[in-house]
Amino acid sequence: MKDILREIPQISAFIERFKDRFSPIYITRVAREITSRYREEIKKGIRLTVEGIFEEVERELIRRKGTNLRPVVNATGIVINTNLGRAPLPEEALELVREISAGYSNLEYDLLTGRRGSRNSHVADYLKDLTGSESAFVVNNNAGAVLLVLHTLAREREVVVSRGELVEIGGSFRIPEIMASSGAILREVGTTNRTRLSDYEDAIGENTAILMKVHRSNFYISGFTEEVSARELADLGRKYGITTYYDIGSGLITDILLPGSGEVSFSRALKDGVDIVSGSGDKLLGGPQAGIILGKEELIEKIRRNPIARALRVDKMTLAGLEAVLRMYLEGRHEEIPVVRMLSEREEVIKSRAKRLIRRLRDIEGLETSLIKDVAKPGGGSMPELELPTWCVACSFRDMPPDELSASLRLSEPPVVGRVHRGRFLLDMRTVSDDELSLIRTAFELLNY
Ligand SMILES: *Cc1c(COP(=O)(O)O)cnc(C)c1O
Repeated sequence: MKDILREIPQISAFIERFKDRFSPIYITRVAREITSRYREEIKKGIRLTVEGIFEEVERELIRRKGTNLRPVVNATGIVINTNLGRAPLPEEALELVREISAGYSNLEYDLLTGRRGSRNSHVADYLKDLTGSESAFVVNNNAGAVLLVLHTLAREREVVVSRGELVEIGGSFRIPEIMASSGAILREVGTTNRTRLSDYEDAIGENTAILMKVHRSNFYISGFTEEVSARELADLGRKYGITTYYDIGSGLITDILLPGSGEVSFSRALKDGVDIVSGSGDKLLGGPQAGIILGKEELIEKIRRNPIARALRVDKMTLAGLEAVLRMYLEGRHEEIPVVRMLSEREEVIKSRAKRLIRRLRDIEGLETSLIKDVAKPGGGSMPELELPTWCVACSFRDMPPDELSASLRLSEPPVVGRVHRGRFLLDMRTVSDDELSLIRTAFELLNY
């Protein structure tokens, strides 16, 4: 075995062989990855020829077309899939992003006066109109929004939060940690399953800056529970003259978009009387990554003037994408936003897409498919309790176990990511668009190549 390992060509040999067609950096990266994968396989006892390794590297060089970031077909059924880039943007958002980023723009330039303008102004009015907020400010993401709000309004002072809402989202965003980074002092009240209004009230003291509510985006507690509503908390804040802040997470614009989902919207939280509300741009809102801060003018003004806001400011590409998406909401065309469409698509439409995929894959050698009814998840820290009915195409390919088929499709071109459920490999049609059906076929064709 040692000898075979030694026969794996040096990276320079791959560069020498392919340098006329690909850049050395690109060849190095691909060759390293494949030779190290082969090293593992040889250790497991698989026999390979040197020429076979060259061929595999060449195939991979062609497949990847040279970029690290590549489009992936999301057949997981998870609509807001953080690992796969969260919300896919609508076409007209992409057009505006292209137009604005390809050249110069009025990003921070007031065309009327010829003076310096504000980059925030391009989306602030839309946000106000859509949610009824007095004021609006946008930063890089919602984690940044939480940090900025707390740093501005509660540094070295206390923030009262229910123990049932000290959540961790996406593995790296933890309320207690972000609170510590902001310099605010966490004052936990209540228990994991029950927190009453009196718990908040008892915690109020000289040093209290904020009464905070955090949406439990990615889990839910059932059984013997009690939590304080946004309205009750807002009333309590007013009674004591203390700011209230609601981190709603998802960025849902209004309740009518997802009736019965149990998800709070910006408009709802503001109507309930909360002073400041923040949420993400790329979860249920369906736009680019952004952190949206809404609420009272005088508080937003303080937040805007905090020097840290400069470190969290949004790029022109984000603003262009966000403006286009917000306009679609204002014009009542939210059904055209991919996230909204995927979440609200009727079962029959999904079923017919699944049937069409089965027809498209009919002549792929070694592949057997069947139609299966299942449930899809919104994902991305939104609506943990909500399950959407969906239709999947279950696939078995040659004698590959489901995990192996899953891995092979992931490494195909384009990469297709499905899910393995109860010993079957499934392609969920809720998160796949009609245009992607032919891409799935291409990915299967490559498995036979
Ligand atoms: C997702 C989420 C965040 C983090 O938002 P990002 O946009 O991912 O930075 C913060 N708070 C809550 C409640 C969330 O659901």
